[in-house]
Amino acid sequence: MVTIDAEGLTSEHLMKPTPSACVFEHVYFARPDSTLMGQNVYATRYRMGQRLAEESPVTAELIMPVPDSGVPAAQGFAQSSGVPYGDGFVKNRYVGRTFIQPTQAMRQQGIRMKLNPVREVIEGRRVVVVDDSIVRGNTTRQIVAMLRDVGAREVHMRISSPPIKWPCFYGIDMPDQDELIGARLEVEQIREHIAADSLAYLSIDGMLASTQVPAEDFCTACFSSRYPIPIPDKELRDKHVLESPAHQALSDSDFTHDPLLSGDAPQN
Ligand code: SF4
Repeated sequence: MVTIDAEGLTSEHLMKPTPSACVFEHVYFARPDSTLMGQNVYATRYRMGQRLAEESPVTAELIMPVPDSGVPAAQGFAQSSGVPYGDGFVKNRYVGRTFIQPTQAMRQQGIRMKLNPVREVIEGRRVVVVDDSIVRGNTTRQIVAMLRDVGAREVHMRISSPPIKWPCFYGIDMPDQDELIGARLEVEQIREHIAADSLAYLSIDGMLASTQVPAEDFCTACFSSRYPIPIPDKELRDKHVLESPAHQALSDSDFTHDPLLSGDAPQN
């Protein structure tokens, strides 16, 4: 607050700053050569992969990423598990991101054009495929099918972030909640849907610890439902949150706002 009076001009902070940076920037959006909150993004994603290997180990002969965003976490997973890393997919660099294609048909066509599995790397092997996230689940299902088509003996999916269960109201272009597979299905049901031999996600604690930034500095709402700024009912309806089965299964108390991050924070 700036005060101008007979004494002159004074400026003072009336409340403690309460940052709520988007943790998804560290998981997916930011370029790996960026520095966010003092941390290199590549190194953070590498640690996420290491932590994922500790939390959900699996016997395999090959660790491979879904390029490009799964690369650092796959390398961390391979380092931590002692299993060789390999590029099982070659990416067509002239095709855009499937995440932001507007229709399912375009996304399906997109992933086939975008990623080409290398039979010589995959055939006869138990493979661990590391990706940064699963949004709708259809791309992941196609990835598993493509790997089986070229002879993978087993396909184990490992995701370097927790299940996305809640929509973003803060500007990230995410689907409505009823399109998020993590909001509709449990992990085992998602594994069945994508037809993988196993599926595991990084825990919220593991994700936050990997950033090496204090957890209270982040928004994690799409994973945790802890929205740092209250969401008006109209916004919830517009994103179909109130109609979603996941919301009905939760009590109102799950729609909490972290008091440390909201306007209820101690004002010192
Ligand atoms: S809800 Fe998710 S995507 Fe949106 S700002 Fe929070 S962490 Fe980022």
